[in-house]
Amino acid sequence: MRIRIKNPDIMTLNAESQILSGVDIFIDAGMIVALGEPPEGFVPDETIDATNHLALPGFFNAHCHSPMTFERGWAEDLPLDRWFNERIWVAESALTDEDVYWGAALAACEMIRSGCVGFNDHYFYMGEVAKVAAQSGMKASLTWCQFGIGDDKEIGTNLDGALKFASELQSSSEGRIKTVLGPHSPYVCPPDFLAEIGRIARETGLAVHIHASESPEQVANSLKSLGKTPIEHLDSCGLFETRAIVAHALYLTENDISILARKNVSVAHCPLTYMKLAMGGTDLRPLLAAGVNVALGTDGPGSNNDMDMKEVVRMATLLQKFYNNDAEALAGDLPLRMATANGARAMGFADSGSIEVGKSADIALFNMDSPHWYPKHNLTANLVHCAKNGDIRHLLIAGQPVMKNGKILTLDEERITYEADWRARAMVQKNMQIVREYKA
Ligand SMILES: [Zn+2]
Repeated sequence: MRIRIKNPDIMTLNAESQILSGVDIFIDAGMIVALGEPPEGFVPDETIDATNHLALPGFFNAHCHSPMTFERGWAEDLPLDRWFNERIWVAESALTDEDVYWGAALAACEMIRSGCVGFNDHYFYMGEVAKVAAQSGMKASLTWCQFGIGDDKEIGTNLDGALKFASELQSSSEGRIKTVLGPHSPYVCPPDFLAEIGRIARETGLAVHIHASESPEQVANSLKSLGKTPIEHLDSCGLFETRAIVAHALYLTENDISILARKNVSVAHCPLTYMKLAMGGTDLRPLLAAGVNVALGTDGPGSNNDMDMKEVVRMATLLQKFYNNDAEALAGDLPLRMATANGARAMGFADSGSIEVGKSADIALFNMDSPHWYPKHNLTANLVHCAKNGDIRHLLIAGQPVMKNGKILTLDEERITYEADWRARAMVQKNMQIVREYKA
């Protein structure tokens, strides 16, 4: 399919941070083939009028649990341990594979509306999330979370099943879907299990997506029981030998940072969760200075409470400035790069993250008619701090229009909100029944 995007301004996020004004984008077979003048003989199948629109490379959500839309508003105003043990964990015990499908579909609608072209998902019944990714047109890196503390404790399948899922769906949907190994964390998974995952990663080449170093207690416990920080421990278990993404990594030593940089490990930073669950802040500047690939994520809507990557960009920026008492932190287009190219790199989509010839056509078009876009002294600052996800009128993923004029083309949004709403309420009812039986 050949598409011409007519007359947008373009935030290229190329090496020179060029911003182009009123320049056409030409797309063929999913790729950007020209900017400005069309290639010879180019006849578009479709033209999108993008006058007074800003084209931005689409966002990559580097860490989420998309089906947790079902727990949106279900675990409010609680610290991390009570949030998890009293609300989230109990709710998830009543989860079905159908719930996962509708929960992920709801999340996909939100992500598309926030300009997100790819997501890195860590959850259960991931075959259902793969269906959503296939139907929605989104790019996805999918992990069937494993705890490694006995097959009866796993949700939906054991490690054999998770590996079967990974091998069956790897590179499916024209390469839009990637599968990844997903041990939950060093604080849940025993060392033997992590070492086994490290071995499998090396043998299969599969990437690894894991949580680590979320609290000072986790680091202290790790030092006490293993004599290593969580990051040192994961490294010694061989988990950083293939492409790896560590979610959170809030409490790091200098040695941790040098391991992450040396082993090319990406960090997925989810500022809304840290603020909402009062997990504390972190200084990203030393990581960025060391060359660690820091990407941004929403985390799950049980803690966030939405899947809005546009908001994450602004919040990440504000939190770094505020927490570090440094107005120069995360300056210019850096937060946009973290949410686009860095996320794409973390998830293995190296041909995404900028609007340049030869790159995948993953493009969000922001309408700039609303008052908050004026004046246009600085389009980068307007995009980081003023743009709303409702400004996004069109979204293309791998050259396919997924949303046009504010309408999602690939998913039935009305049916999805209906199904997700009643199913989430039913899950909570079942959950209350379990709690009543437990107490009786
Ligand atoms: Zn998480």
